Amino acid sequence: MERTLAIIKPDAVERRLTGRILERIEAEGFQIRAMRMVRLTKKEAEGFYAVHRGRPFFESLTSFMSSGPAVVLALEAPDAIRRWRDLMGATNPAQAAEGTLRRTFATSIERNATHGSDAPETAAFELAYFFRGVELVEM
Ligand code: ATP
Ligand code: MG
Repeated sequence: MERTLAIIKPDAVERRLTGRILERIEAEGFQIRAMRMVRLTKKEAEGFYAVHRGRPFFESLTSFMSSGPAVVLALEAPDAIRRWRDLMGATNPAQAAEGTLRRTFATSIERNATHGSDAPETAAFELAYFFRGVELVEM
């Protein structure tokens, strides 16, 4: 079993797509191990996306991510990191495969509906960023 950090980003929450995305998460076989709605501050968004500091889109991305509530989730499944990224689709919705969450719900490369960790080390950092160990114990 593996865990990954997923975010339903502020664009999707605002457009009331949370329920439809949660439905896909469960239908695709992920177990939701923890879930919370958060309103990130600009500083918290910058800390979360620290690896992108210096990129041209960093300022806009962190403003967007702190612009409204988001839903953070710990998802569990075999090969969860890769499978969740497959379900999200490519970063740019114009390049995302048919049926993926970003193809279906994203409106731009920035406002792309969902986030997923990209490796075991980033998943560990990102899960710890939002959830205390006690919230993630085996159920
Ligand atoms: P995420 O980390 O959110 O799951 P990702 O791993 O597919 O997405 P990254 O390269 O990590 O993509 O970029 C993080 C986020 O920054 C993207 O999801 C998107 O919201 C935004 N982003 C990435 N590239 C661009 C860009 N060229 N222009 C604007 N925003 C971008
Ligand atoms: Mg990424």
